[in-house]
Amino acid sequence: MLLFDERLPFFKGNTHMHTTCSDGRLSPQDAIARYARAGYDFIALTDHRTVSPERIEQGVLVLSGVELDYRLDVQVVHITGLGLREPFDAHAVCQPGMGPEDGIAAIRAAGGRAILAHPAWSLNTLSVLPRLRGVSALEIFNSVSQSPWNGDRAESASFSDLASTAGAYLPVVCADDAHFYDGDECQSFICVNAPACTREALLDALDAGRFYASRGPRIEQVEVANGRVVVRTSPARRVIFYSNLVWTDGRCVQGSGMREAAYALQRGERFVRVEVVDEAGRKAYLSPIALD
Ligand SMILES: [Zn+2]
Repeated sequence: MLLFDERLPFFKGNTHMHTTCSDGRLSPQDAIARYARAGYDFIALTDHRTVSPERIEQGVLVLSGVELDYRLDVQVVHITGLGLREPFDAHAVCQPGMGPEDGIAAIRAAGGRAILAHPAWSLNTLSVLPRLRGVSALEIFNSVSQSPWNGDRAESASFSDLASTAGAYLPVVCADDAHFYDGDECQSFICVNAPACTREALLDALDAGRFYASRGPRIEQVEVANGRVVVRTSPARRVIFYSNLVWTDGRCVQGSGMREAAYALQRGERFVRVEVVDEAGRKAYLSPIALD
């Protein structure tokens, strides 16, 4: 199995950011300008309970977006929506007594895709999984969930692995959740392998899993065949193969300027999740690959 179609380009995007339409510091126009200058192909403006319209602005595809928020007993659940096509009343699905399942269903009914935002920041536990049916991904890295803007709970890799070990193989994205625009913007992204940078093509590729998440490194191809996973990347210092097994031999492949790394699947492995680390310590992440 090859993950990516090498005849198709990759489009770079950020699925989570805020503007002066809610609690972000920049206007939509200025926020879009930052991402246009940084070479992003698409973004979604996901203001709190505030829907942005789809348009092409400054050469960037701006997908319709929103962020919904729910308070459960001991945790919060934030859900971003992108690619909404139908009119969407965000306040109507964030009423007291409602939960993430209501927001996710409404986003999907409006033609969009729902993403679980920053589970580590939200102190999410596996108890929320039954209420997340229908999400298209979770944020494995969220730029603003780092100091100095926050504490340091930006990475949700252990939530991802626990969910996968419980049988919920949720794809992963990296997103900025930019609010301040003093370093929390243009850091984290997804690269989507699609025939065109349109709403339909991007959502199709997201549904098909043809994307990776990153803060720097590129992932060029992934092949699963003959009991092995082979990953081709931009120059890497380390490639790590996580799974449901707590210990396996050969999980961490190291070198200088590596362009390819391979891992032999072990008996009892039900999924593999790959991280690529470059010389600067920046990571790229693949969604968990189900093996069963
Ligand atoms: Zn947000």
